[in-house]
Amino acid sequence: MIELVSAERCIGCNLCVKVCPTNVFDKTEHEPVIARQSDCQTCFICEAYCPADALYVSPYADEQIAVDEAELAGNGVLGSWRATIGWGPGRTKLAALDKTPFIDRILPARTIRAAGVSDVRTPTTG
Ligand code: SF4
Ligand code: SF4
Repeated sequence: MIELVSAERCIGCNLCVKVCPTNVFDKTEHEPVIARQSDCQTCFICEAYCPADALYVSPYADEQIAVDEAELAGNGVLGSWRATIGWGPGRTKLAALDKTPFIDRILPARTIRAAGVSDVRTPTTG
């Protein structure tokens, strides 16, 4: 659950407001505020997008916890999710390192029938 917007770090870009799928934040003249915390889905998208490492989403999805910004910053937690997935300048995106086979390479091709279309085969690769 979203627990922190750092007023000290926030640059007011409002990306978190835009990307949150459940509209948790409200814009203000300064940093966004957490206006509907219970609507948070703990998806970490806001953390991933925040260019200033100003957000903290706790992994506890169903309960609010008290957090201390100085402690989070001191432990290197702020911005760590964005770093882990390789978002941000000079980083390699996790998706670029992922070697997981595509689903159509590990499942057998199957026949599907679409309305008005004769049998269609799923694409095969490799
Ligand atoms: S994405 Fe980060 S820097 Fe931008 S408004 Fe939200 S908290 Fe502030
Ligand atoms: S973790 Fe997801 S649902 Fe929660 S505030 Fe961030 S973007 Fe919104």
